[in-house]
Amino acid sequence: MNKFNNEDSKNFRPEPAPGVLYVVGTPIGNIGDFTPRAESLLRKVSVIACEDTRKSGLFLKSFDIKTSLISFHAHNTKSRIPQIISLLKNKKSVALISDAGLPIISDPGEELISSLRNHNYEVICIPGPCAATTALVCSGLPSKRFCFEGFLPRKARERLQLLNQIAKEKRTTIIYESPHRLNRLLKELEVVFGNNHKLQISRELTKRFEEQIGPTIKSAIEHFEKIKPQGEFTIIIAGSNQQGSNNAISNEELKESISKMISNGESTSSAIKKIAKENGVSRRLLYSMIHQKK
Ligand code: SAM
Repeated sequence: MNKFNNEDSKNFRPEPAPGVLYVVGTPIGNIGDFTPRAESLLRKVSVIACEDTRKSGLFLKSFDIKTSLISFHAHNTKSRIPQIISLLKNKKSVALISDAGLPIISDPGEELISSLRNHNYEVICIPGPCAATTALVCSGLPSKRFCFEGFLPRKARERLQLLNQIAKEKRTTIIYESPHRLNRLLKELEVVFGNNHKLQISRELTKRFEEQIGPTIKSAIEHFEKIKPQGEFTIIIAGSNQQGSNNAISNEELKESISKMISNGESTSSAIKKIAKENGVSRRLLYSMIHQKK
C-alpha cells in the first residue's frame, strides 16, 4: 500500500469535517490537474459555493460529482456570508471553488474567509493550480521575491500611476490581463519601462496551445503586431534592477534631463533626439514620457 494514500493513512485528517470551509483549487485549463483530494472532497461536502453554477456544474458533472451548488460571487457576497456561516454552524461542510484556479486569487472569497476567521470557524485550503505561480516558475525571471498585482485598474490615470510604481519595484511582478487589453498594456509598459525591459508572457497555461512570449517588451509587441492576442494571459515583468532593464537611468531622470535642456533653450525635439541617442532609448518612448499626465 502506498504510505501516502490519502484515504488510508493515519497521517491525514478525515475530510470533510463538519463546520469547516474548504477553499479548493481547480484546474486552470488542463482537467488532469484536478487533484484526487479535491475531487474526493467536492464529492463529499454538504454544499459547494461557486462563482457560476452553470460553469462549475458542467465541470463537476464531468466527474459525476452531484453535490448541491450555491452561487457565490462579487454581487452576492454580503448576503451569502451569513448563509454559509449558518450552514457551518449546523455542522455542514462547505467548499468554495472559483471558475478556475485557486479561489481568492483575483477571484471572490476574501471577505468570506476573513469573516469566518472572525467567527472562529476553521478554513482549510485544498491547494491546486494558480496561473500566477505557474507563469512565474516557467518565466526564467527571479522568483525568490516577487509581487502579485492581479488585474490593473482600468482607468488610464490609475493604471499609469500603478505602472510607474511597479517600474521602481526591484522584485519580479505578476499581472493578469485580458486578451483584448493586452496590446494596450504592452504599449503602456513600453512607455513606462522602455522596450528593452525583460518580460515573459504565459499564454494558455496547461492547455493545448500553451506558449511563452518574451524575452523583452519589444519582442512581445512585435509578436502581437503579427498575431492577435487570444486566450488567457499572465504577464511576468522583471524587476527594475535586472539585466536588460533600461532603468539603469530611471524614467524620472530621463524626463529631468529633457526638461533641463528645454529650460536652457533647446527645442523639445532636439532635446529628445539627444537624450534618446545618449541613453539608447526610443524617441517615441521619450515623447510619450514627457506627455504623460502626472
Ligand atoms: N484564481 C485564478 C488563479 O488561481 O489563477 C485567477 C482568476 S482571474 C479571474 C483569471 C485570470 O488569470 C485570467 O484573465 C488570466 O490573466 C489568468 N489565467 C487564468 N488561467 C490562465 C491560463 N491558463 N493561462 C494564462 N493565464 C491564465
